[in-house]
Amino acid sequence: MSDLSATYQYVDDNSEELIAEYQRLVRQPSVSSSGEGVAECAELLVELMQAAGIDARVVPTEGQPIVFGEARSAKPDAPTLLHYSHYDVQPGDADDPLWDALPFEAKRFGDRIVGRGTTDAKGNVMAFVQAVKALNATGGLPINLKFIFDGEEESGSPSLPGFVEAHREMLAADAMLGFDGGYRAGDKPHVSLGNSGLLTCQLRAMGGSKDLHSARARLVPNAAWKMVWALNSMKGPDGEVNIAGFYDDVRPVSERERELLNEAGFFDPDWHDDLGVDRFLNDVTGVDALEQLLFTPTCNINGFASGFVGDGAKTLLPSTATVNLDFRLVMDQDPADILEKLRKHLDDSGFEDIELIERGFIEPSRTDADAPFARVVAEAAREVLERDPLLWPTGDASGRTTHWIATRLGIQSAGTGIGPPDWRGHAANEFMLVPYFLSGIKFATRIWDMAGERGGFE
Ligand SMILES: [Zn+2]
Repeated sequence: MSDLSATYQYVDDNSEELIAEYQRLVRQPSVSSSGEGVAECAELLVELMQAAGIDARVVPTEGQPIVFGEARSAKPDAPTLLHYSHYDVQPGDADDPLWDALPFEAKRFGDRIVGRGTTDAKGNVMAFVQAVKALNATGGLPINLKFIFDGEEESGSPSLPGFVEAHREMLAADAMLGFDGGYRAGDKPHVSLGNSGLLTCQLRAMGGSKDLHSARARLVPNAAWKMVWALNSMKGPDGEVNIAGFYDDVRPVSERERELLNEAGFFDPDWHDDLGVDRFLNDVTGVDALEQLLFTPTCNINGFASGFVGDGAKTLLPSTATVNLDFRLVMDQDPADILEKLRKHLDDSGFEDIELIERGFIEPSRTDADAPFARVVAEAAREVLERDPLLWPTGDASGRTTHWIATRLGIQSAGTGIGPPDWRGHAANEFMLVPYFLSGIKFATRIWDMAGERGGFE
């Protein structure tokens, strides 16, 4: 084990300066939904990265700019780790009376720094940037580092996939680390290894060529019934999706993943409260519910529109019915393949005339729970943060960030976050605690150090 004591000492000795620079970044608004301050924040971040010894620059996109940075190790054949986080923030919502300080004041109350972006994600961004500074001041970098700091994560990262495709060479790396958010309940750092996929689409059924008096239902087909029958053919009350081949590519849950689910545990009452139900679908409980949440694909109706649903009597034969569907997908389901299977299902079931329109998709992504890089992040967390991390084998939500990029680049990935639990994400009084920020800096240096010791991620 290499010795980081000088680096850790540097962090402790220079904590006030490391924190002050982080506060500077929080004080610069960067609201991607309105554009407020984003370009200025990108410039400031480049300045702070350069001060830490990172070769950084602003890369324009069709939307908000991405900040890209690179820092090389002097060691020959050092592996390269690519990082992803974001410098944009949610709106400040200064009118919310629950703020103890102005949203972009980054005001410090003892160990608590309050402000929009303090954890999500400028606290995370600056912990990693300051980790580079600390290592550069105490002997240099053990591995090569690359950083993507997104300027529109809070707006769904629309420019990120194009950026990744256009810069594959520049982004070449051996593994990828995302950092955002904070610890989970129970004061446990988390390490996530994947995301669900998503396919959204619209179905349109036609009855007659126009809405008619309902007496004509004896002669003219009803679009709403047609849609109901089509939907009924796709999924039954048992929850099974009846589209031929829908489950063909679902990767079975590995023994290791099941182990991680057991370690993570699942407390039903909290989830019941959170979701506003008193039981789950199929009456699953405990870890089985967690497995169902993370590893089963869905076919979900978002909305159904047809005919007249107002008060009073109106006798109508609707000519159109529209339904928006989404499918949460798991490894290794392919959204394009599922869309084709859905079309074939409709055709084979007598619904050739129902129109199917794709509305967007995100591929699922997942790193093997036993992958060497996942172990590095978990071990570094255990050692530096002195807590067992919660390893989350995949996520129920979908996104085109860390895991998605890593899957595109064919490398392993892990996601983590250094903010305190209950950091009030997207709400008034979002905060960071100084000890979490400083231990986050040390955590980053140890991840890199451990990766250097192991000479890569094979
Ligand atoms: Zn975030």
